[in-house]
Formats: sequence, C-alpha cells, structure tokens
Amino acid sequence: MEIIQDFIKTGRINRPGARNSCTGITVHETANKNKGADALAHAKYIKTLNERTSWHYTVDDKSIYQHLPDEEKSYHTSNAHANESSIAIELCVNSDGDFEKTKENAAYLIRTLMKKHNISPENIYTHHDWTGKNCPATILSEGADKFLLRFYESDEGEKTISISELRKMGYTKIAI
Ligand SMILES: [Zn+2]
Repeated sequence: MEIIQDFIKTGRINRPGARNSCTGITVHETANKNKGADALAHAKYIKTLNERTSWHYTVDDKSIYQHLPDEEKSYHTSNAHANESSIAIELCVNSDGDFEKTKENAAYLIRTLMKKHNISPENIYTHHDWTGKNCPATILSEGADKFLLRFYESDEGEKTISISELRKMGYTKIAI
C-alpha cells in the first residue's frame, strides 16, 4: 500500500524539527466520528494547526498519509519521552469508513515501520500506556492485545501469537 507523503511545512509550530529516536510506535485514534473525517481530511487539518499538536501518520480504510519524517519529534502526547522516541499513528474512526479495514492498514504500516527501524513488539504502545488517556478508545474497548495480534499475521501465513506469549519468548523468535 502506498504511503502518501504530505508533510507539515518546516517552521510550523507543530513541526519543531527536533530528533525522534524511532525506538517505538504509539497508536492513537482521531476520536472524530464525523463523515469525511478521513486521512486526507486530517492531512489537510494538521498543516493548518497553530498549536503543539502533531503526529506522523494518519490511516483510514483506503489510504495512509505521512505528515512528518519518522526521525522528527512530534507532539502526540503530553509525555516528552513519548514525543521524542515514538512514531505516532492516528487511526480514523469516521462513521463512513470501514474500521476493520483501517486496522488492517494500520497493522501493515506498523509492520513496515517495525522492519524499517528495527522496533521490537514490546515498544508498540497505545496513547493510554503513556498518559492514561482513553485513546485509542475503540481499540482499547475491543482489547488492545487483539489489535496487536495483527502485527504478527503476515502474507506468508506466519503463526499468530499473543502478546503475552511473545513477552515470555523475549520476542526474539518472531519473524515480523
Ligand atoms: Zn491519542
């Protein structure tokens, strides 16, 4: 799936240009259920924001938009360490979208980023993990582990395994 790069302009308040170590990934939801609140709409919106709010990718049921280079800091939580170490992904929850497909696309993106930056499964976070905020609300209500399982389902039909099993194994035997 194509990742459409549509970056926030340099110098904007939500693109500080500081370093992101890319040692983790944080999953969010937009919490915007309006019709049409898809990835393209958020790509336009984030470029106009005049506050310290930003993230790297927005995913919907048909597209993935990238708003910042992975290696640049974003303002996706109130936790400075999170903002300087993890790549932030927002999942759209627009009522005219197919959330199951959005989760599939997000899992594809997460697998891609894990490979690219050598990120281990233990460093995949939800916004809730950092600050206690109820985000990503739908995924949390469905059980975050259930969503995380998708990262280990590959085109080659590799074994699906639970996060708790992965933790016991120290993650080292998993082909992602
Ligand atoms: Zn969030």
